[in-house]
Amino acid sequence: MADNVTVLDHPLIQHKLTLMRKKETASADFRRLLREIAGLMTFEATRDLPLDTERIETPLTEMDAPVIEGKKLVAVSILRAGNGLLDGILDLVPSARVGHIGLYRDPETLEAIEYYFKVPDEMEDRDVIVVDPMLATGHSASAALERIEALNPRSIRFLCLLAAPEGIEYLTERHPNVHIITAAIDDHLNEHGYIVPGLGDAGDRLYGTK
Ligand code: URA
Repeated sequence: MADNVTVLDHPLIQHKLTLMRKKETASADFRRLLREIAGLMTFEATRDLPLDTERIETPLTEMDAPVIEGKKLVAVSILRAGNGLLDGILDLVPSARVGHIGLYRDPETLEAIEYYFKVPDEMEDRDVIVVDPMLATGHSASAALERIEALNPRSIRFLCLLAAPEGIEYLTERHPNVHIITAAIDDHLNEHGYIVPGLGDAGDRLYGTK
């Protein structure tokens, strides 16, 4: 496994992912499971955030206590399925700022076309987690990462639930400094750009649109 990829094989994440893959899992359960997994993945994805100390008073004495250093973390959701991961991240990091990037896939070329972009100010001082449940071809992830890289943040991580080997290769070549965190690497992409075995269209399954 390349140094820039972490697969989170924790049993709780793997069990919940299996429930999400099942075609009979209802949207409400799919949403709840994705939120729970996002929380568990955030725990790992934030493991190496730098710490500072702050002088505080406990009821007994003063101490230098650890706090996360620097400006507030930013979670950037690639619309629309990325939103399914946001609440789980915000459950663990309630003070995080949130950005959104709207991209759609051209059905012919599978290229990513941007239709919306909004992120917090002062991105150059922040750690950023770009989120999308499915890393398939890597085209939309790469388009999103290019926009974020142009703002020079302190660090960038890419958090997804499932990755295809093709998507990992595509991102690794173009964004070698971005750490990819995923719950599983599946077998391949089919001719429509879907991850196999996968879980289907994450946006449709989250929001019941099919
Ligand atoms: N997007 C999805 O929602 N599912 C896939 O399998 C690939 C891309």
